Amino acid sequence: MNAQPKASHHIGGTYVEDDAGAVIESVYPATGELNARLHSATPAIVEQAVQAARAAQPAWATLKGVERGRILLRTAQLLRERNEELSRIETLDTGKAIQETLVADAASAADALEYFGGLAGAITGEHVDLGGDFVYTRREALGVCAGIGAWNYPIQIAAWKSAPALACGNAFIFKPSEMTPLTALLLAEAFKDAGLPDGIFGVVQGYGDVGAALASHPDIAKVSLTGSVPTGAKVLGAAAETIKSVTMELGGKSPILVFDDADLESAIGGAMLGNFYSTGQICSNGTRVFVQRGVYDAFLERLKIRTEAIRLGDPLDPDTHLGPMVSMAQRDKVLGYIEAGKREGGRLVTGGGVPEMQGFENGAWIQPTVFADVSDEMTIAREEIFGPVMSVLVFDDEAEALRRANATEFGLAAGVFTADLSRAHRVVSQLEAGTTWINTYNLTPVEAPFGGVKQSGIGRENSRAAIEYYTQLKSVYVATGPVDSPY
Ligand code: NDP
Repeated sequence: MNAQPKASHHIGGTYVEDDAGAVIESVYPATGELNARLHSATPAIVEQAVQAARAAQPAWATLKGVERGRILLRTAQLLRERNEELSRIETLDTGKAIQETLVADAASAADALEYFGGLAGAITGEHVDLGGDFVYTRREALGVCAGIGAWNYPIQIAAWKSAPALACGNAFIFKPSEMTPLTALLLAEAFKDAGLPDGIFGVVQGYGDVGAALASHPDIAKVSLTGSVPTGAKVLGAAAETIKSVTMELGGKSPILVFDDADLESAIGGAMLGNFYSTGQICSNGTRVFVQRGVYDAFLERLKIRTEAIRLGDPLDPDTHLGPMVSMAQRDKVLGYIEAGKREGGRLVTGGGVPEMQGFENGAWIQPTVFADVSDEMTIAREEIFGPVMSVLVFDDEAEALRRANATEFGLAAGVFTADLSRAHRVVSQLEAGTTWINTYNLTPVEAPFGGVKQSGIGRENSRAAIEYYTQLKSVYVATGPVDSPY
């Protein structure tokens, strides 16, 4: 499974290596085979990336927005042309089925580049009339921004962060998760081929220490993290030392509320997509499925049948629905949660173990798993599992469902399935979550803001809202008459 890149890092428009850095291995999670061996960035590499970005950023910021946008649009075009190869590499790095990576990874990255490429020329300040004098505002770039990514959507995360950053005139340095280092480098290649000036987009590989070095670097103005809540707290702490702007896309334990009047097949489909897609490794997953008592049994019966029809298999086979988890360590962590679910009295409806996968015996496989009769206190209902484990809970009325759905420190996402229009909007307005859906789940188009409340995050990605998180306002007061001074 050779997917060895030319070198570990991409700095100043070119591949850079430093063998002194700790070894990073990219492993194909379906077989345990080695894809590539890279090196973590040494302090010298981090410094080289920051200084290359610093040197290049001012000229980039003074280009017209449409000129910056044109380069992002060209990059998107290249990602689309290269989608098949990018998807193959993403599958090798993450283990996600090619059926998914073909449509949800480089393609989603291209969406972000197109959206922010188009918007780049429309980033403006405003004019405030003061009856003669006036104020205008300039929306200016922050400078050098850093992104730190999780392993579930490597190229998507890199693009969701860098596209708005670059559109606004910033330079950007991305550190992928050490488990999935490959496709960010290919994004850097696409930027380069599209004509992005050297230094404006860099990739440095590394473990948490490299992320920490970026988060605390005095020449970096902003850090955007996609990761877990504990890492978020660390990055926030590091960013606080130099008063950096931050965007935090963190974990969740999101609820899905299914009312008696819902279209049951759609609700089941939504709950399955919101628990099993990407083998359950999605931050916004609706892992607590609250089902109203009247349809509880019917919901579980059909859910079991449909879950057992999911095809696990060779991730590179286009007919495969689900691949393995990203790593054995993550698989074992999820198996631990499944054991806790059993021990604490959850009723196992289906799954719950490791499937036999002929030809893929060394992969990080796990069965899509459903627990019923889950209570709010159980570990599987409280903690983020980050694997294909759905908890189904029964409820009687709307007020109860809302109270229980909101009883969590997380607030990333939430969904409601009902045929009652008024109830849908009423319930959504009371759900404590940053991203919500009515009668669907987990759709995240670039046009819509994405992010969390409570401990699930700070700031928003995607949509026009992202512009605010990659710019700062300068206010300019303009006098049109003499200065009126008492002195
Ligand atoms: P982690 O929080 O473990 O890691 C996230 C990134 O932060 C990695 O690149 C990691 O590097 C880096 N990192 C670790 N420690 C530090 C540190 N002290 N300072 C700076 N950077 C550091 O998350 P996972 O990669 O395990 O991803 C899973 C988590 O991400 C889940 O909680 C999930 O909910 C969340 N997530 C949130 C999303 C959202 O948009 N809200 C989307 C996707 C995932 P390394 O990997 O090398 O340790």
